[in-house]
Amino acid sequence: MKIVFATNNPNKLREIREILGSDFEIVSLADIGCHVDIPETGDTLEENARQKAEYIMTNYHINCFADDTGLEVEALGGAPGVHSARYAEGTDHDSEANMAKLLHELEGKENRTARFRTVISLLEVKGESPSNYREIQFEGEVRGRIDTSKHGSSGFGYDPIFIPEGYDKSFAELGEEVKNQISHRAKAVMKLADYLRQLAARR
Ligand code: IMP
Repeated sequence: MKIVFATNNPNKLREIREILGSDFEIVSLADIGCHVDIPETGDTLEENARQKAEYIMTNYHINCFADDTGLEVEALGGAPGVHSARYAEGTDHDSEANMAKLLHELEGKENRTARFRTVISLLEVKGESPSNYREIQFEGEVRGRIDTSKHGSSGFGYDPIFIPEGYDKSFAELGEEVKNQISHRAKAVMKLADYLRQLAARR
């Protein structure tokens, strides 16, 4: 079964291909000749994931899915959340600036509880028209806390300051192997993989 993953991020592609194995052909945006930066203008992770997947369904009429991730910090009312990539003003995916801002916002705060949350929106073709499809969403989360300074060098984004529950090291210190077993994205991807396997078995 061929499914488009609305991303060009090689790490995300590798992760999902590893989890799904060879039963599914997961192709990227570049693989289908899509070179636009698909808009993400929603107010929630759910809306953004759906918006990206709907872009592919509308323009390419093919089974597809998209993901969106945010870091939600309790003491900040869930911020940066859906704005995680652009938390530091005037930046885009600038992890150093984003982490600096978050550490600053949490200065002196006792409650440093946080969670990463990933939402995946899967759209299945249901008829001749691109407007006939079915959506199902999958969610994964990992709870933890924000450290007072950065530690470790692996991973990306907020990994150096996020310590998952049950550990005393940051994601960036724990490394990819541990992270990929417990992460928000891995959990959401595993739910998607279970669903796709059931779907394939019914065909
Ligand atoms: P995206 O939706 O996967 O692009 O994630 C949005 C933003 O959340 C990224 O720019 C990162 O700053 C942050 N982020 C997403 N996933 C992770 C992760 O696994 N570790 C650290 N930061 C992440």
